[in-house]
Amino acid sequence: MAVATDVRSWIANRIRQDEITRYMDGDRCFIDDGAIEGALERGRNPDAGRVREILAKSLAIETLTLDEASCLLHVEDPDLQEEMKAAAGEVKRRVYDNRIVTFAPLYMANLCVNNCVYCGFRHENSAERRRVLTMEEIAEETRILAGTIGHKRLIVVYGEHPASDYDYIADSIRTIYGVKVPTKRGYGAIRRVNVNAAPMEIAHLKVLHDVGIGTFQVFQETYHRSTYERLHPAGTIKGDYLWRLYSMHRALEAGVDDVGIGALFGLHDWRYEVLGLLRHAWELEEKFGIGPHTISFPRIEPAANTPYADSPEAVVDDDSFARLVTVLRLAVPYTGMILTARERGDLRHKILPLGCTQVDASSRIGIGAYADVEEKQEGERQQFILGDTRSLDEVVRQLAEDGYITSFCTAGYRCGRTGRKIMDLLRSGREGHFCKLNAVLTFREWLDDFAGEATRAAGEKIIVRELDEISRRFPEVYPSLLDAYEKVAQGARDIYF
Ligand code: SAM
Ligand code: SF4
Repeated sequence: MAVATDVRSWIANRIRQDEITRYMDGDRCFIDDGAIEGALERGRNPDAGRVREILAKSLAIETLTLDEASCLLHVEDPDLQEEMKAAAGEVKRRVYDNRIVTFAPLYMANLCVNNCVYCGFRHENSAERRRVLTMEEIAEETRILAGTIGHKRLIVVYGEHPASDYDYIADSIRTIYGVKVPTKRGYGAIRRVNVNAAPMEIAHLKVLHDVGIGTFQVFQETYHRSTYERLHPAGTIKGDYLWRLYSMHRALEAGVDDVGIGALFGLHDWRYEVLGLLRHAWELEEKFGIGPHTISFPRIEPAANTPYADSPEAVVDDDSFARLVTVLRLAVPYTGMILTARERGDLRHKILPLGCTQVDASSRIGIGAYADVEEKQEGERQQFILGDTRSLDEVVRQLAEDGYITSFCTAGYRCGRTGRKIMDLLRSGREGHFCKLNAVLTFREWLDDFAGEATRAAGEKIIVRELDEISRRFPEVYPSLLDAYEKVAQGARDIYF
């Protein structure tokens, strides 16, 4: 069949070996299985004094070594674990204050040439009904997300297929940025489009950079190579461990400054994956002077007609999940951490204070599911089943009641505070200054345009508290903030510092 031949030749030309080997040290990649296993072995039975020294280093906002992180991963004493959790929360506050960023996933296409055993979109899953959104459908999804729900940030998600290649991704980003919807007081629009898609070559990543991509995310799934090769069949694009491992190197070389790494927990030992993520963060920092902008730590969720996902081989229970999130926060203090709605609402409530910085809300992961209510939670067009289906309004309210301000700020990348600049600002604590002001302005916008009554009441209390704190901590900028705040309250939109 002609189409099948086209797809086959597309697959055959996807991987560029020179864009792997150029970053390698001969035939050695930066994930050294022996080094990770060795660190895991040495970290067993850590003594309390050593653990507290390591916590002090995290609290000084320094990245940990593999050996240090390994010690923390092996703490079994419940009291010491509580100290670690408290330190993780404190690290988050020192770097990110009480801000939480929200976003929504937008699934664009579920055609996929790969066969990842855990994923509902895998090629061989004949139960999956396939669909690629048209630009008009993408605009419609965006109108709901930006105009009715009130999101400002999206993560757009694609299978790997010629029908949703880089040119389609670029068009879809342009389409999303082009949507502007009138609201009660102003207008709604998506201001940052992050992308979760297959690894790409540098030239294609440059195209995405030019249309204004936010963060480019690729999860390694598992850093453990033989496990990776078993779960991603040879002969598929995704079967190439190294093509995926160096995707962030290529993105940074293409000028995409904000990159997001992640592991899919449940495929291999969780302690190994944490050290894999940490090694990846170190590698990017050493080679490019820029660590990852975000780390994601999804756990495998059940998916329609996908037996592997019902009983993954290295299940991570809730307690271990809390431990791994705590250690990640302590190990890479200045990196954003994303806690997705794969997790149940009650668990997200417990995990968030361990140092997470971003959560999604009102999420739907069927293709076209925001516009098409029938499509809402239908298994056959979903990649997996969500654990938390609360609305953005409910999530914002709970955050406000817990003392967090939801930040809809997207100023950072639009005024060049990305990559190395943002890392330096985060390390020095100065990023907090800009972000705190912008969080107040964008929260004001959102409360006026989208909040329900109860959420608005909870939100107003947070705003009063934030304004008071800013007047004391940053008296020099307070008058300009008040000026901008008044304008926003009158209906001006997208004002930022
Ligand atoms: N197709 C691209 C890829 O694989 O890189 C990007 C999109 S893929 C839909 C996004 C991520 O979903 C994957 O990287 C994987 O970590 C995650 N995922 C796949 N199956 C999952 C499942 N059953 N439960 C939870 N997350 C899953
Ligand atoms: Fe395709 Fe990505 Fe799912 Fe793998 S995880 S089957 S590459 S959509």
